[in-house]
Amino acid sequence: MSVRISRRNLMKSVGLGALAFSLGCSSARKAKAAAASLMASSTPYELPPLPYAYDALAPEIEGNLLRVHHDKHHAGYVKGLNATLERLEQARESGDLSGIKSLSRNLAFHGSGHILHSLYWQSMKPGGSGSPSGTLLAAIERDFGSFHAFRAHFLAATKKVEASGWSVLAYEPMGGRLVILQAEKHQNLTIWGVAPLLVCDVWEHAYYLQYKNNRGDYVDNFFKLIDWPVAAQRYAAATG
Ligand code: MN
Repeated sequence: MSVRISRRNLMKSVGLGALAFSLGCSSARKAKAAAASLMASSTPYELPPLPYAYDALAPEIEGNLLRVHHDKHHAGYVKGLNATLERLEQARESGDLSGIKSLSRNLAFHGSGHILHSLYWQSMKPGGSGSPSGTLLAAIERDFGSFHAFRAHFLAATKKVEASGWSVLAYEPMGGRLVILQAEKHQNLTIWGVAPLLVCDVWEHAYYLQYKNNRGDYVDNFFKLIDWPVAAQRYAAATG
C-alpha cells in the first residue's frame, strides 16, 4: 500500500483555532522520521491513542461509551481512509476512474471522520480546565464580544446541528478571526484542516457564458493555465 499523504503534513495543517492537535508522541516521532524520506511519507494513517484512560472523563462521558467511540468508530474511519487511498491508487494505476465520485466521497467522509475525532479527544481533559485565558480569551472577546456571548453562541450552534454532525471553533486565516461552524455529517466533501494548493471553480458562473454546458472543455483549458510555481509555494508554506 502506498499512501502519499504524509501524516506530518496533515498534522501541521490541521490546526483549528486554539485546539492544539497532535497524534501523540510516538506517531509524532514516526512522522518526523518519515519526513526524512519520500518513501517513509507513504505510511498509512494510524489510530491515535486516547490522551487519557477510557474512564478518565466519567461521569460526564463513561468509559464504555468512550471505548466504543474510539476503538470502534474512530478506528473505522482510519481503516476506511487507508482503504480508500489504496482504491484511489489502484484506480489511477488502472486508468479506470469511473468510480471517482464514490471514492472522493469516501475519502472526505473517512478523512474528516479521522481528523475530527482526533481533535475531539484532544478537545477534552479529565476534570475540564475552567475557562480560557491569555491570547485565546482576547481573541474570543474580540470576535464574539465576550466569553459569555461565545459560550451561548457555541452551545446554540452545537445543539442545533442538523442531524449528525459537529460544531467547530476555528481560526479563519484569510480574515484572521475566530468562527464557529456547524459541520453536517463530517465532511461535505472536504477533509477538515487541509491546506488548499490548487483550486478550480466549477460553479456554472465560472464557465457558462463562454462554454455553456461544456464543463469538460473548460476544465481541460483550466488545466493548461495552472500556475504550478504558486502551488509549489503553497505546498512549501504548508509543510515548512
Ligand atoms: Mn464520533
